[in-house]
Amino acid sequence: NRMISTELVEEDIKIENHLRPQMLSDYIGQEKVKENLKIFIEAAKSRGESLDHVLFYGPPGLGKTTLAGIVANEMGVHLKVTSGPAIEKPGEIAAILNNLQEGDVLFIDEIHRLNRQVEEVLYPAMEDYAIDILVGKGQAARSIRLELPRFTLVGATTRAGMLTAPLRDRFGVVNRLNFYNSEELQTIIERSAEVLEIGIDPEGALEIARRSRGTPRLANRLLKRVRDFAQVKYDGQITLEIARDALNHLEVDTIGLDQTDRNLLKTMMETFEGRPVGLDTLAAAIGEDSGTIEDVYEPYLIQNGLIQRTPRGRVVTRSAYEHFHLPIPEDR
Ligand code: ADP
Repeated sequence: NRMISTELVEEDIKIENHLRPQMLSDYIGQEKVKENLKIFIEAAKSRGESLDHVLFYGPPGLGKTTLAGIVANEMGVHLKVTSGPAIEKPGEIAAILNNLQEGDVLFIDEIHRLNRQVEEVLYPAMEDYAIDILVGKGQAARSIRLELPRFTLVGATTRAGMLTAPLRDRFGVVNRLNFYNSEELQTIIERSAEVLEIGIDPEGALEIARRSRGTPRLANRLLKRVRDFAQVKYDGQITLEIARDALNHLEVDTIGLDQTDRNLLKTMMETFEGRPVGLDTLAAAIGEDSGTIEDVYEPYLIQNGLIQRTPRGRVVTRSAYEHFHLPIPEDR
């Protein structure tokens, strides 16, 4: 179980819902996305219309689900939550759509994982607020059109590139979420600490922020781990020193890398001697799924300039050698 895994575990789900900002004004960072949404929401409200369909993409744990909830709250409508893998048959998506009320937000997480038949039901639903249902069998079969309420589809994906063009084109608003900087994460951690009644110094919060891989979900998780540490080993209040001690124990390094990141980078530097390596080869070498490397590990390593994607494969950069205090090969 990776400490910095961005996958949701059960204990997170309860706490996450508790910590989720409810309105745009509580949502920290992602200024451009917020600005965009604010305008769209105000415009739709002033026209008395439902909001255009919105797509959020970016690595896990950056606040896509949170934004879907905020969109619904700001519009004053219901939120219905589902996910790509959860909808198996066209009839299931038809039933979900048919049960929506005027203006409602339907959130589909991992929308790139919808199957083809289900996706085809969504096209007319998104475009014309209608679905075509086949009734009868054989010669007598005919299609009837069922009108739907005007709803807003909010889709989230870690891989915008895996969305089919017809689906992507039906979103009026497309927003990319970026990693958060340390100051933003510090604010998020201080807010979470207040909600969870955890005592924390600003320097302690900043230290956790620096090691949270730019990801609020991890920031909240590390906060809870450090709190355990502060309660058992110290007097409870999280200081810079305690945060450092706890995070070192958890083997999360000064820039948020954990065992798996280090293994990945070291394999590239040592086993592959810094030469370009293909994703699948790398995945096999460290015993990880290539999709997980692409979605979860790599974006942060690329963002921090530790690896680069080139046409010949992934390569480690000089910064990676420097981070591990390893000699830089001469051809770098
Ligand atoms: P995603 O859907 O992108 O995987 P979530 O929306 O579930 O991510 O966010 C994970 C957790 O991180 C949420 O419970 C929320 O508490 C926190 N979070 C995410 N973005 C923000 C933000 N901008 N401000 C404050 N908290 C945030």
